[in-house]
Amino acid sequence: MGNPRRLTGVWLLWCCLIGWAMPTHAKTLSLARLTADAPAQQVVSGGRDADFAVARDGVIFEPDTAPRWWRVTSPVDVDAALQPHLVVRAPYQNRIELWTGHGQPIVRGLFGENADLAFSARALAFPLPDGLRAGQPLYLRVTSIGGTPMPLSIQPLREVHRQDLEHVAWRAMVLGAMGVLAVLALGFCVGLGERSYGFLALTLLSQALFLALAGGELRSFEVFGHVLGSDPRMSRVAGMLAVIASNTFLAFYLDLAQRGPVILRVLRVCNLLLAGLVLASLVSTSTLVAKIGNVVLLVATASVLLASVRGTLRNERPAFFLLLSWLPMMLLTAARVGELLGWWVGPPWMIHAFPLGFALAGLVLTVGLADRMQQLRRDRDHASRLAAHDTLTGLLSRTAIIEQLQREVELAHAEGSPLSVVFFDIDHFKRINDEHGHPVGDQSLRLVATRTRGKLRKRDFLGRYGGDEMLVILPDTTFDNALIVAEHLRAAVNNRPLTIDGRVIDTSLSLGVAQLASGETFERLLERVDVALYSSKSAGRDRVTGDLFPQPGDA
Ligand code: GH3
Ligand code: MG
Repeated sequence: MGNPRRLTGVWLLWCCLIGWAMPTHAKTLSLARLTADAPAQQVVSGGRDADFAVARDGVIFEPDTAPRWWRVTSPVDVDAALQPHLVVRAPYQNRIELWTGHGQPIVRGLFGENADLAFSARALAFPLPDGLRAGQPLYLRVTSIGGTPMPLSIQPLREVHRQDLEHVAWRAMVLGAMGVLAVLALGFCVGLGERSYGFLALTLLSQALFLALAGGELRSFEVFGHVLGSDPRMSRVAGMLAVIASNTFLAFYLDLAQRGPVILRVLRVCNLLLAGLVLASLVSTSTLVAKIGNVVLLVATASVLLASVRGTLRNERPAFFLLLSWLPMMLLTAARVGELLGWWVGPPWMIHAFPLGFALAGLVLTVGLADRMQQLRRDRDHASRLAAHDTLTGLLSRTAIIEQLQREVELAHAEGSPLSVVFFDIDHFKRINDEHGHPVGDQSLRLVATRTRGKLRKRDFLGRYGGDEMLVILPDTTFDNALIVAEHLRAAVNNRPLTIDGRVIDTSLSLGVAQLASGETFERLLERVDVALYSSKSAGRDRVTGDLFPQPGDA
């Protein structure tokens, strides 16, 4: 399943898909930046134009957290009839003022009082009711929380709305899918009592919360809008909780306790650090917290990646599933890091790529976890089959036959149906071992088991009670019929010698028979049938002795 060639194929496929979908970005607007927060009138009147430094076209990339001025010019005339809007994508918690020289600025942010809920949270939209002449400057005062690129364009209102609807559809699909997966995982957690599903649910929920907080979906709710407007900490906390939950889940999923104790220790340290950072986030707004958080995230991701590559090379299915689910995420992360470092500006769909990566990873991991559960169940069934059966003879083990007897006794009492047992032991079995060796003794046990099993009904039970002793449970069988069955068993062994490796071995069975008396316990029934077997032995072996009912005073 996880062979390297197939894996390389999947990687290449993802690379091609992402490469194909990464069109070159049309950079139409020219930008210049002023590294100071000058008075608005001075800037808008053009008084500081000489101090503006030319910046890269089409993208505001504001590294400072203090307000900075940006000058925007279009190389072509923009017709007012199209209701043009200046659109600033991916604004997150940044706040932007547009100064057009008409006095007061238009202020926009995703959250709080400046939010314009007539547009989706993909961008801030500023109306340009008079259109824009080629080269005519627009001045933006940008308050950034630091360092994410905001692509800029001028679009007709129709186009802004069309892209908004597309954005909302994507987000609804992705967040909806994550929500459904989380609810499913939670259901499995409660229904199956599997804690790992709980961690998966927690991972998905905190990832969805992180996306919705950072992406602005929750801004329509008054409380959230208010709190988030000025505070980037909540999405930070949600993001870190998502990583803690995901680390815990992945440690279980990859069975790191067994397969990667060192990596498990690294992940635990990461989780401890993150828990500390979550607490620190609650009291401090410092961006240092986010930076340390990102380093810890990087270490945790590298560790899990290492574990999953190693596991995949060892043909472990969970590791393969994980690698598969993380491929798009990792490629997109690389693309996004390139974007943050200013190497390129991604296409507009990049804003959906992350959430989609999360949702896809969630989906593949849910399937992978189901697969792992299936494997665990198979292993458990195999183990319980091994425990229930005697490995030498294939008959029920001592524990299994006693448990079965217990159940049958309860059933017989409840239904008032007859129940009998036969207890037998091979005569002079030690001699077979002594004369022919232990392996021949083993084979004799197997043959006796096969021959006696052949004389029983499907619904009867035969188990190896110990050494050369075997117990038969005969449901719905009276004492008289049990005596007949016991005779058949005796004859099956005794009529024909055992032939093993060319040796002919005469052997016989001694048997005891008893029927369950009213109100009798299974222990008492066992004692009685054991006494009956002992009677057969002391009376000369190779015979059946019955113990019909408890002796007076026995009960
Ligand atoms: P008796 O007629 O009184 O039953 O005589 P016996 O020799 O059969 O004595 P007993 O039932 O007490 O001895 C059982 C022997 O079975 C003792 C042990 O060495 C042998 N034995 C028990 N389990 C195994 C086994 O798994 N394989 C083999 N080859 N021998 C076993
Ligand atoms: Mg014996």
